[in-house]
Amino acid sequence: MTTPCIICVAITGSLPTKADNPAVPTSVAEQIESTHEAFEAGATIMHAHVRNDDETPSSDPEKFARLKEGVEKHCPGMIVQLSTGGRSGAGQTRGGMLPLRPDMASLSVGSNNFPTRVYENPPDLVAWLASEMKTYDIKPEIEAFDLSHIFRAAAMYEAGEIAATPYVQFVMGVKNAMPVDREVFDFYIHTVKRLFGEDAPWCAAGIGPNQIVLNEWAISSGGHARTGLEDNVRLDRTTLAPSNAALVKRAVELCDKYERPVATWQQAREMLGLREVA
Ligand SMILES: [Zn+2]
Repeated sequence: MTTPCIICVAITGSLPTKADNPAVPTSVAEQIESTHEAFEAGATIMHAHVRNDDETPSSDPEKFARLKEGVEKHCPGMIVQLSTGGRSGAGQTRGGMLPLRPDMASLSVGSNNFPTRVYENPPDLVAWLASEMKTYDIKPEIEAFDLSHIFRAAAMYEAGEIAATPYVQFVMGVKNAMPVDREVFDFYIHTVKRLFGEDAPWCAAGIGPNQIVLNEWAISSGGHARTGLEDNVRLDRTTLAPSNAALVKRAVELCDKYERPVATWQQAREMLGLREVA
């Protein structure tokens, strides 16, 4: 049997607002509802940022706590992955929610440019975030915006700074960072297998119209897929996505096309080596 595909839904992000797409969930209640629909559609990881009431990005641990509690209640078994990346420059407040012990957290291990700014991930902050994740038994998802980030993750794993085999996500199509390039994508896969073993799971995310491109590349190459309104608010050039679930359904259709079963939450937890559901 081919490896089941884990679908991650990135529900909100730190950038898109309701002005971009009214379906972007920005209050905690909206986020829980949107996650529930996405879970029913086949997503097994939810990746989340939280927002202030004016939709600006927040790191408020209290909001993260309410979101995590709501998702665990309404989507039992779903993997909760909180973002530590959303507020560049905010220093250690980016990890203020880690004591909540989510199943996973995103971890960027190097800096790069974003569309209008530097995405700052200085070595001391990366080391601190990784050590907090170890303390609270949280599996990091390594956000690879560049090839060097995969090597950094390997070095951290070797040094015991990351507990288990890193789960690497290739992020492509962020303006001023790594573009969507098939040869680089294939080399990323090759590198992950070389550094972490043939069976090491990996996933990929594309930004904007490239979301569906990266979904197709990942699903057809044995990887896992990330979708959701954080990365892309449209179904096509002229149609806004009506929900996170609609984007998840698109990934599910690609799994059908390539005869990949969609992973259940039990399979996803096993493949990622996560702890038991509390
Ligand atoms: Zn994010």
